[in-house]
Amino acid sequence: MFIYSVWHSFVHLLYPHTCISCNTALYSHESIICDACRFLLPRYDFAKKIYSPRLIGSTLFQFCISYLVYQKYNSKTQKILQALKYDGRKELSYQLGKWFGQELEQNGLFLKADYIIPIPLHPKKLKIRGYNQVDGFAQALSETFQIPWKHNILIRNTFTQTQTKLSRAQRWENVANVFEVKEPSEIQNKNVLLVDDVFTTGATVEAASVALQKANCSSIGVVTIASA
Ligand SMILES: [Zn+2]
Repeated sequence: MFIYSVWHSFVHLLYPHTCISCNTALYSHESIICDACRFLLPRYDFAKKIYSPRLIGSTLFQFCISYLVYQKYNSKTQKILQALKYDGRKELSYQLGKWFGQELEQNGLFLKADYIIPIPLHPKKLKIRGYNQVDGFAQALSETFQIPWKHNILIRNTFTQTQTKLSRAQRWENVANVFEVKEPSEIQNKNVLLVDDVFTTGATVEAASVALQKANCSSIGVVTIASA
């Protein structure tokens, strides 16, 4: 054990793991984000919003909650999402889901649903990135709240271009018909929890909800890593 810990410290010295947010070296008990940065992450007001149904387009969602508030420039949340989506740090997804699950439980809040369904990437995009950045987050919530995780039932048909430069109307055009439920009978009369990375205009979850409603699901809630 002693030899291991000396070796571990030695390796740590040679290749220090640094916090993705502030770049300071991490202690051995920390992973990815240092304790100080984790403490300072801007939390979304999930305790209140979990009881508020929200209308997006023509879909009434049971609730739309997020773990973090997303600020665009140089914020902790922005650095986390950058690392998760573009720097290959896919382990962040699961870690954030674990932390969010713990914090919900600490607030006496429990997610209930028949299925957790992550918003899928198009296969081409999945191939480029190598992973869906919301899968780990969905999986961690699934484990924490004992909700089965269905990651193959909602599929994405069309390769959509990056959404960031489009107007709301263009985004809607872009995603309205891209989702499809593979086995509609499995979704019928079920309460579904949709999971995505960032909630901005709501166009993506609204588009996914169109497909879920066609399959006669009973209700839809939305959980995202961050919300603008
Ligand atoms: Zn830090």
